[in-house]
Amino acid sequence: MKNDLIIFHISHLVTLSGENALRCGKDMRNIEIIKNGYVVIKDGIIEEVSSGEGYQEYITEKTQLVDGSGLLMLPGFVDSHTHLVHGGSREHELKMKLEGYSYLEILNQGGGILNTVKGTKAASFNELYEKAKKSLDIMLTHGVTTVEAKSGYGLELDTEVKQLEVAKALSKNHPIDIVSTFMGAHALPSEYRNNKAEYLKKVIEMLPIIKANDLADYCDVFCEEGVFSLEESELILSSAKRLGFKLKIHADEMVALGGATLACKLGCTSADHLMATPDEEIKCLAKHKVVANLLPATSFNLNKAYARGRVMIDNGCGVSLSSDYNPGSCPSENLQFVMQLACLKMKLLPEEVITAVTINGACAVNKEEQIGSIEVGKYADLVLFAVPNLEYLIYHFGVNHVKDVYKRGELVVSNQQTVYREEK
Ligand SMILES: [Zn+2]
Repeated sequence: MKNDLIIFHISHLVTLSGENALRCGKDMRNIEIIKNGYVVIKDGIIEEVSSGEGYQEYITEKTQLVDGSGLLMLPGFVDSHTHLVHGGSREHELKMKLEGYSYLEILNQGGGILNTVKGTKAASFNELYEKAKKSLDIMLTHGVTTVEAKSGYGLELDTEVKQLEVAKALSKNHPIDIVSTFMGAHALPSEYRNNKAEYLKKVIEMLPIIKANDLADYCDVFCEEGVFSLEESELILSSAKRLGFKLKIHADEMVALGGATLACKLGCTSADHLMATPDEEIKCLAKHKVVANLLPATSFNLNKAYARGRVMIDNGCGVSLSSDYNPGSCPSENLQFVMQLACLKMKLLPEEVITAVTINGACAVNKEEQIGSIEVGKYADLVLFAVPNLEYLIYHFGVNHVKDVYKRGELVVSNQQTVYREEK
């Protein structure tokens, strides 16, 4: 039985209260900030959210009291696009990158994804587990309490299953909850270079096995020039849909192939990357309420253009932000840096950035009924930041502002932070 918990006198309590639905366009600015707020938690669930001294009536002999003065509280972040489980790392590609080789050129030389495929095949379950656990620890320390994790570094059944089983075990054992995505169509294995149709057939054959073993909720495809075409992406995603998978798509990362429109047509939960998405397709995403999941740290690391997040929000899209943590295009778990980039490089307002990593991130993994806002009945996934206000969190970049992280009402991270409490 968990102790009841009350966090009181919170200087800035950002609740994101409202509908449990994708917040689109101007609605992304409505985050609700309560000053001198409190949150009452019972059995890991939020029982009351308000301001002032009213929390005192909830105190019993077993209540744990936490003073939130001088602190900012946000819902735990949702990182809704990662390639968490993989073997090896790719620091040797840094020099090739500096010499001007493109991502696709590195891929064509047997580097890139295919290099990680080798490393992932060679790694044991335990090696993958320990490596991914370290990354989850870093994510948690930075305020992330829910993560989406994709397979896609096996490109054959056994290794894809191994990756998904690692994610499943970690979701059970680690404080972070993991939502799994099958991404057999992440790259074309070199042995199928002259027989792509055969590999597509293999991926489609993997789908019912993944489903029967309850290893993934979503299916995702890398729809990109030189990877999988629009037609090939549709073939895989529609096969997955028939089996009951929810859908995601890597779309328009480098070349606009029509992936965003396909996401609308098939009812994808999210379309991800969207760096090259044309105006008409942005409007399509807004109309169909497909989450526009943007990954600015990948643009930063690849020295590429940023997705037009400002234009998307101004056209009524619901934007989420994720790390895209992976060993190639984005080897960083730090979602706070992603948030700072979205503000500086995509011109998102701090309020929009917060919406993008909380309630809209929850929508990108269809968990908006349980997480993504600080409201009665939701999980007490809460983060306290040692910052004087919301803007400061975004403005003071490149460092970790998290003080404490609570997962379902339990303290799971406590960082060394100096807190300057105001005189009361
Ligand atoms: Zn990705």
